[in-house]
Parts: sequence; C-alpha cells; structure tokens
Amino acid sequence: MNHFAYKRGALFAEDVPLAEIANAVGTPTYVYSTATLTRHVKVMQQAFGHTPHLVCYSVKANSNLAILRLLHEAGCGFDIVSGGELARVRVAARADTSRVVFAGVGKTADEMAQALDAGILLFNVESEEELLLLDKVAREKGVRAPFGIRVNPHVDARTHRHIATGLKTSKFGVPFEEARALYQRSRRLKGLWARGLDCHIGSQLTDSAPIRAALARVAGLYRALVAQGFALQYLDIGGGLGITYKEETPPSPAEYARVVVEATRGTGATLVLEPGRVVVGNAGVLLTRVLYRKKTPTRSFVIVDAGMNDLIRPALYEAHHEVRPVRRHSRGRTGRVDVVGPICESTDVLAKDRVLAPVRPGDLLAILSAGAYGMSMASNYNSRRRPAEVLVNGDAWRVIRQRELYEDLWRGETP
Ligand SMILES: *Cc1c(COP(=O)(O)O)cnc(C)c1O
Repeated sequence: MNHFAYKRGALFAEDVPLAEIANAVGTPTYVYSTATLTRHVKVMQQAFGHTPHLVCYSVKANSNLAILRLLHEAGCGFDIVSGGELARVRVAARADTSRVVFAGVGKTADEMAQALDAGILLFNVESEEELLLLDKVAREKGVRAPFGIRVNPHVDARTHRHIATGLKTSKFGVPFEEARALYQRSRRLKGLWARGLDCHIGSQLTDSAPIRAALARVAGLYRALVAQGFALQYLDIGGGLGITYKEETPPSPAEYARVVVEATRGTGATLVLEPGRVVVGNAGVLLTRVLYRKKTPTRSFVIVDAGMNDLIRPALYEAHHEVRPVRRHSRGRTGRVDVVGPICESTDVLAKDRVLAPVRPGDLLAILSAGAYGMSMASNYNSRRRPAEVLVNGDAWRVIRQRELYEDLWRGETP
C-alpha cells in the first residue's frame, strides 16, 4: 500500500500534486511519501508483535539523511555496509549508533575501528581473515568486538541471479559447514565477543519457501552454538522481502513474520530484521519530463530527461518499473513505446515495450516503485547532475537533497 494516487486525473503524492513539485524543483526528481514510509515500518514492527525483534533498516536501499532520520524516529536501527553509511547514520540518528549492524565482505581496518568507536551492536563477519582482523583491531583498542558470523546457507532464493546472495557460488558469508569452527576459534581470541548469527539470502524475495529453508538451517546452528556455551543473543535474518513492481505477489509482512517466527522458534533469540526494499521501494517515485518522441521503422521511443544514471535498475537487473502519466489525458489511441533516457548507452531504457497513452514533449511521467536502489545507485555518468529528492508529508513537501550543481561534478579534481 502506498500514498501515490490519482485525484481528478492528476497524480498526487499524499495531498501534493506531483506536477507542483516538478514545476518548482525541476526534473528528474525523486519524490518520497512520509506516510508510506512510516506505514511500512509500522506494519513490519506489528507483524513481529511480541517476538523480541529489532528492525535495522538497510541503509543502502536509500541513504538520504531525511529518510534515515524519519526511520530512526519510527524506532528503526540500521544495517550498514560501509564507513560512509555509518557516518550518515551518525548524523541522521543524532549519534545513536547503538542499534547498528555492520555487514559486507570487505570491511577495512579503518571501518572496523570507526564502528568500534561508535559502539555498534553487531559486526556480521563474512570470512575467517576478517574475523582475525576484527580481533586485532579490537584488541588494539582494548575492547571486545560483538560479532556474528554471516553464514551462507546454500539456498536458492529464486530471485534474479544478480541479487541472490545465498548460493554456494556466492561471495557472501561463510560456508555453512565452516561456521562452527570459526566460533570455536573465536573463544581464544580476546578481542571478540560472540553475540549473534547472521544470514541474508538475497533481495526481492517473493517466495517464502527459500526463506523458511534457510532459517531452519540457521536456527539449528544457533541452537547448537548456544548448547556449546556461546552466549548468543541476536539471530540476524537479513532483509530481502520483495515488493510488487509489476505482478509479483511477495509474502505480506504478516506472512513473512509467521514463517520467520515458526522457523526460529525455540532459539530464544532477539531477531534482527534488515528490511530495505520493502520499506522504501514503493514509498518513492522518479518524476521525469518527456523531451521528444521518435519513431523508427521498428519502434516508438519516448525520450525523457531521466536516464540510467538516475535509475540503473532496469539496465542492471532487467528490472520492471511501471510508468504513469502525471496528468491523465484522452488523446486517442495508446501505443507501445520504449521509454528511454538521454545517456549514450543502448541499455539506457527505463521501460521497454509498454502500453502508454500518447504523450507530448513537456508532459510529466512518474516512474513508480523507485524509492529503493534508485537514488542510492545514481551516478554522474555522462556528467549528469544527480536528481533532486523531495519528501512529502500530507499537504507539505520539502527538498531533502538539492539537485547537484555543475561544480559538484568536478569537486576534488585538478585541471
Ligand atoms: C542489501 C541488504 C539488505 C537489504 O535487502 P533488501 O532486499 O533491500 O531488503 C539486508 N541485509 C544485507 C546484509 C544486505 O546486503
């Protein structure tokens, strides 16, 4: 459920016409809905009810400070994957880094030191060498690093191959069979404190069977470790719950919670959830303006002012985003078009072979479900300034990131 809807033929974000925002701040612009964001967090929190749990929003899905601030105020902790994300959380959460979990296969010693200084909740460690370095960095500081091992449960998440992370061939996590030995080894390392166990099998999961299968394995390992005397408290089940971009029918948060709670029953653990996409994905749209129409002997193109540098998901993952006119017209027959951007790459196609009512130059389009992995993956390719970002709240809205200036494009460069 989201708060983007038509009223008398005009597309609104909550109580604000999207055209008003486009006219004021220009395009391309990401627009987010406060009501949708807070609703998604509440639904997730309520789904887990009395089961001890912690929602640690996955910062990489959308890392704008205003969004992080909002989610912090809604009671979220954070799942980070870099020192940069830690720095963002520090600002947005007013230095409350007590509910931060840190994943990623390539943490540097500097990043570990920063996270130890910040007093984060949990390092999710992804290899033996990383575990040994974490021990060393913590000992140098005279502290113990709270850690969990991210295990790879070898489960096919049945999602796009580029966002599956739990396969045997994946770079993520420690092979399931080797995790126990690592925990045993950590007993002799004075800079480490075994606090949890972690897994994350992929993103845009639409099927609960692989979630159930992975968690059954991981919960079994958790119980075994506790039986061996490890004082674990956190079972981090990762994120990955999918959303509807087109016709997908992912488990609802309530169904997801049922599967998770059932699979982890008897562990006594506090569950750590790391949702990203399901929180922000359908809480954002990308507003863009039509520049030109072009017909070739085989195709019809609508050329817009947003490109793959602004929203790379279609080019990167063959992802589908619905496209809607910001104002509905009845200008005759709808046709099949490719909505393309201005970037000099053949993969710069935002929407392929879509039925769309006729558009004219100057018309506004909204690319839906663009709140997750949209702006956070945007780049300056083709020396394009990244989009502005706007947050709507009821009938009010504000710019939460200004459109870049040309000077921003060469900041730090020396001619
Ligand atoms: C990306 C990521 C998430 C969030 O995934 P979503 O599909 O956006 O929910 C959670 N945990 C880890 C470790 C991740 O890398």
